[in-house]
Amino acid sequence: MLDKIIKDIKDAKTLTHENITALLDSPDETLWAQVFERADDIRKKNFGDAVHLRGLLEFSNYCKRNCLYCGLRKDNKTQYRYRMPPDEIVENAVQIASFGIKTIVLQSGEDPYYTTDIICNILRDIKKNADTAITLSIGEKTRDEYKAFFDAGADRYLIRHETASPSLYASLHPDSTLKERLNCIDDLFSIGFQVGIGCMVGLPGQTHSDMAADILLLQEKQPDMIGMGPFICNQDTPLQGALSGTIEQTLKMTALARIVCPRSHLPATTATGSIDRFGREKALAVGANVVMPNFTPLNYRMHYTIYPNKRCITEDGYKCNTCIRKMIENEGRTVATGYGHSLRFESSTGQTS
Ligand code: SAH
Repeated sequence: MLDKIIKDIKDAKTLTHENITALLDSPDETLWAQVFERADDIRKKNFGDAVHLRGLLEFSNYCKRNCLYCGLRKDNKTQYRYRMPPDEIVENAVQIASFGIKTIVLQSGEDPYYTTDIICNILRDIKKNADTAITLSIGEKTRDEYKAFFDAGADRYLIRHETASPSLYASLHPDSTLKERLNCIDDLFSIGFQVGIGCMVGLPGQTHSDMAADILLLQEKQPDMIGMGPFICNQDTPLQGALSGTIEQTLKMTALARIVCPRSHLPATTATGSIDRFGREKALAVGANVVMPNFTPLNYRMHYTIYPNKRCITEDGYKCNTCIRKMIENEGRTVATGYGHSLRFESSTGQTS
C-alpha cells in the first residue's frame, strides 16, 4: 500500500485520508526521504529558489480568548501585557519596509482595544508611507470587520484552523468552535483576501488521523498561505507538562502540506526553528519557501510569549533581517525581491499599491 501511495504522490494524485494516515503511521525513513524529495521538487518547480521574507510585528499581547495552548490566553496572569500605540506600529512598519521587506505581518492576540477604525487607520497610514503588502493576523472578526480591513488596504489574512478535528478543537478552545473558525476562513476568501490557514503539529491528544484531516483540509481549501509549526508546551497554560511536537513530525507535515498545495506560500516557521536549531533550514529543504524575520521592538518582543524559548528573542530587527538573509544564502537559496503575493495574483503588485 505504501509503495502505491508514493507512486500517487509522484503522479500528483489527490491523497485520501486513509493514505495520509498510513503514511504518518510509517516510520520508514527511506519512504519519507522520497516524500521529502518530492516536496522539495514541487517547491522548486513552482517557486524556484527564491525565499520570501515577511517582517513580523507583534503589536499587542492582550487577548480576550483562553486557548489552552497559548501563553497569551486571558487567564495567564503571569503574562506581562503590552500594546503598541498606533503611531508606533506605523512607524515600525515604515522602518521594516525600509529594510527592503515587501510584506509586513501585523499580529496580536484578540485585543478589543484596537477597534476596526483604529486598525483601518493603521493600515491606511502604512500603505500611504511604505511600499509593502500587509498581512493581518488578529483572529476572529465579523465579515463586516474583515471587509473594512480589506478596503483599508490589507492584502492578506493569516488565521490558522489550528486543528481540523472538531472534538480536539473544542477541547482546546473554550471560546469558539471549529465551525466558527472555518466560517471566518470562508468570509476572508469571499472578500478577496489572500488567506493563510494551517495547524499545530503534535498537540496533546492529536492522532495521525487528526493530522491527516489537517492535510485534507489544506488540499480542499488550497489556501494562498499555510502556517504550520510544532505545538510547544507552555508551562503557564493548562497544558503544562504536555509533550511538545517533534521536528520529525513537523517536517513530515510540512512536506505533505507542500505536496497537496503545490502553489501555496509555505513558511519555515519560527516555532519550527525554536524546537530545533536548524529547524527552519530543514523546513526550507522539504517544501518551505518563506521565512518570517521578527521585527517586533525588543522591549515588547520578550513578552510575546505564545510559547517558551522562542527563537530570536534578543536580536533587534536589523540583526534578525541580516541573519535570516545569510541563512537563506547558506542554504543555496536566494532572497526574493517582490511582494510575494499569492500565485493566484502573481502579476499584481498588491491590491492597493
Ligand atoms: N490571535 C491570532 C494570532 C494567534 S498567535 C489568531 O487567533 O489567529 C499565532 C499562532 O501561534 C496561533 O495561530 C497558533 O497556531 C500558534 N500558537 C499558539 N500557541 C502555541 C504553542 N504553545 N505552540 C506553538 N504554536 C502556538
